[in-house]
Amino acid sequence: RCGLVALVGRPNVGKTTLMNRLLGEKLAATTRKPHTTRHRILGIVTQGADQMVLMDTPGIDVEPRKRMNQLLTRTAVSALGDADIVCFIVEALRFDAGDEHVLKLLRASGRPALLVVNKVDRVGDKSALLPFLEARAQEFDYLGVVPLSGRTGQNLQGLVDELRRYL
Ligand code: GDP
Repeated sequence: RCGLVALVGRPNVGKTTLMNRLLGEKLAATTRKPHTTRHRILGIVTQGADQMVLMDTPGIDVEPRKRMNQLLTRTAVSALGDADIVCFIVEALRFDAGDEHVLKLLRASGRPALLVVNKVDRVGDKSALLPFLEARAQEFDYLGVVPLSGRTGQNLQGLVDELRRYL
């Protein structure tokens, strides 16, 4: 099986770090070229007979204030529409206006999504995650929720397993 996986999230959620971990090399940061193409293919994760093509959607993290940005927003939503599955990346215990904006674009895309809760290495008391996850589950009907850490690599395989389930 092969699937197109879109990775979305506001700036600073740890997308680049996570990507480099998943791909096993420094790739994502060096191929940055914002707002020029519909998709940026970041790399391919192969496991068993499955291939997951990871892509970025330029413009997804831009606040839609200016007319130019509205155009970018439309492009981002239609690019998201090409994905078989979307990974919506957020930071553990933090959900702000930037995340709300990305969530709106995710809803508009109509695509199925996994919620990736990144940076869990920073959460000392894991029970604090529960109310956060419950709040997120009220906002969107996620296929699943994957808590992980791009920094430590904790539960990266959990994400790959979930993606393979829905390819
Ligand atoms: P991006 O803007 O979404 O691509 O985010 P980056 O990958 O550049 O990371 C933003 C900041 O968060 C950097 O200071 C990273 O070192 C930090 N960061 C990224 N992933 C993690 C993580 O899993 N745990 C912790 N504690 N920090 C992280």
